[in-house]
Amino acid sequence: MTVVLKLDAEHPQAEVIDQAASVIRAGGLVAFPTETVYGLGGDAMNARAIQKIFEAKGRPADNPLIVHVCDRAMLDLVAAEVGAKAEALIAALWPGPLTLVLRRRSEVTEAISAGLSTVAVRMPRSPIALELIRQARTPVAAPSANLSGRPSPTTAAHVAQDLDGRIEMILDGGAAQIGVESTVLDVTSEPPVILRPGWVTRQQLEEAIGRVDVVATEEELKRSPGTRHRHYSPRVRVLIVEANSPASIDRLCWSLLKVGSVGFIGHTRVDIEHPQFSAIVLENSVEHYARSIYSALRELDEEGASVIVVEGINEEGEGAAVMDRLRRAASSIVDE
Ligand code: AMP
Ligand code: MG
Repeated sequence: MTVVLKLDAEHPQAEVIDQAASVIRAGGLVAFPTETVYGLGGDAMNARAIQKIFEAKGRPADNPLIVHVCDRAMLDLVAAEVGAKAEALIAALWPGPLTLVLRRRSEVTEAISAGLSTVAVRMPRSPIALELIRQARTPVAAPSANLSGRPSPTTAAHVAQDLDGRIEMILDGGAAQIGVESTVLDVTSEPPVILRPGWVTRQQLEEAIGRVDVVATEEELKRSPGTRHRHYSPRVRVLIVEANSPASIDRLCWSLLKVGSVGFIGHTRVDIEHPQFSAIVLENSVEHYARSIYSALRELDEEGASVIVVEGINEEGEGAAVMDRLRRAASSIVDE
């Protein structure tokens, strides 16, 4: 049985957080909201809890976990070396959606990092997440709280869809504010390298520490093992349409309707009246796309769409993170 506890996202009730923190201290698993997506938390210093996270998600053992801390002091429990650039980034951008890859302390179980000598660490800014870690008094390993390969959860209901009965508790603090995962930056290399784009942009990183590179595709597979797995995807086929006119989106949807039901997610209004067509219209803004995209993919997937057409957005700034996740969910890109 998974217990679901509701609480206020901005002013979380201390007694509810206390119950969740005791579950973590006892080696159990608690899903909780962060500003990016919901995380599945377990005590990072307890090897058995880490094993349980991998089991509950069905996550491949070669996909490392992000460790969450509530203050700068806690970082020293998991990271062996925090250089000047990392300190500058922490000062400028923590708490927030930035994960730093640092040298791992040997006390931290190797399983967290899938055998790598590094560890990925983040300080979330969500009050629930921060208070939970504080009361648990231990760093909390927390990958996204979905079954491996499914879209990341941005509400407690998404978590329950995937993990009900597999974990001890879900904290329901409403919808995640940002909706896509953190930026992962490897600061063990020089210059530091973005392994996964996220809500913190390359420009923000460069303002804090100077030059930052973006990982090349072949390198990415070696350096960020998680990105090799099929990710963030619903069970159905996803097609991305980029730089398309409303007329060509219309044409594509009609031709797909000949073979099955079609879901559409985008900012263009598509005027198709057909029993097998359903559309989720988003604002043409990166904030709205980020907040809605995983939820929209899940919804159309549950409705039984045989293919989902997603209209891309401008890739500048935060748009890079949204388009990265869409491409990982998609099986092909249509660019007419
Ligand atoms: P998730 O928590 O499910 O959003 O996934 C965590 C992401 O962080 C995956 O893409 C991992 O590959 C990446 N990651 C975690 N730890 C490390 C590490 N030590 N080195 C490189 N990438 C990491
Ligand atoms: Mg994930």
